[in-house]
Amino acid sequence: MIIVLKPNPTPAQIRHVVERIEELGFVPHLSQGVSRTIIGVIGDEEKLQMEPLQAIDGVETVVPILKPFKLASREFHAEDSIFDIKGVKVGGGHLMMIAGPCAIESESRLFEIAESVKEAGANVLRGGAFKPRTSPYSFQGMGEDGLKILQAAGEEFAMPVVTEVMDPRQVDLVVRYTDMIQIGARNMQNFDLLKEVGRTRTPVLLKRGMSATVKDLLMSAEYVLAQGNREVILCERGVRSFEDSTRNMMDISSVPNVKGQSHLPMIVDPSHATGRPDLIPAMARAGLAAGADGVHIEVHSCPEKALSDGPQALLPAQYLHLMHELRGLADLMGRSIDSCEGVPA
Ligand code: PEP
Ligand code: MN
Repeated sequence: MIIVLKPNPTPAQIRHVVERIEELGFVPHLSQGVSRTIIGVIGDEEKLQMEPLQAIDGVETVVPILKPFKLASREFHAEDSIFDIKGVKVGGGHLMMIAGPCAIESESRLFEIAESVKEAGANVLRGGAFKPRTSPYSFQGMGEDGLKILQAAGEEFAMPVVTEVMDPRQVDLVVRYTDMIQIGARNMQNFDLLKEVGRTRTPVLLKRGMSATVKDLLMSAEYVLAQGNREVILCERGVRSFEDSTRNMMDISSVPNVKGQSHLPMIVDPSHATGRPDLIPAMARAGLAAGADGVHIEVHSCPEKALSDGPQALLPAQYLHLMHELRGLADLMGRSIDSCEGVPA
């Protein structure tokens, strides 16, 4: 349930409500919006009596959240959430443009790609060090050596970095090197992993599972939020369908669908959704037009030599062109693409 406080509550009133909730054995989650202060009470609502809470000084009303996801819901937080990842904002009109190779392959290759995507206007660098490959015989990623290269590239080109974590035991290691943790489609419902990243304070990029519903996605976000990590960015990356001419089917409607129900930012990944460079630009534009808070694209300077997902990578020149189009669209829609603080070294 949520406790809505009267306008302009004093710090003492807020503290008192928080303490009462804790005394009752529940976890309070404070949300201070522009016009409203709301305290989410997470736990078994049946065990909580609404009337005594309503009587606390400063409380306006107590209402149950009807949706199964609570902290992710718009009822808990009416305005779009805006997160700041090392100076790059996402949500509420700020677009996050993530680009980079599927996998980190070597320092020289990553630096070359990072330089090109930075120049094109990307504001977050991606690269996988632990790769979830369909075949155990495929390249599995460079592990910690790859993380070191990614961190160095982020510093060199003044970009926050994002990389995937696949196992709860890797979380401590990965957060030492990255500014945002990616949970991939295959792990969207790895609940132990979600709880583990929820215990960190590193922003999480949560990709939709390939057969997950919008509700499943929001419930997975709730797992992370319930552990106290507030910064979850959702990502539509296509779902499995009967269509076999594309890698997946990009569910464009999931963007306004999610954003209607949740305050969390949502971006699109047309690279994994289509698996086809000829379709990626159109789907990137469609994603932004549908209200996405950013676009995630795989870029490689030599796709034929890529160790993972080469066939779907855009060339740096193609990415440059696409970013030019996306900037035009962003202007038209009144959105901004922040660039990261600091000048490339
Ligand atoms: C990736 O980002 O490289 C990846 C494996 O994505 P997904 O989990 O969406 O398949
Ligand atoms: Mn990939």
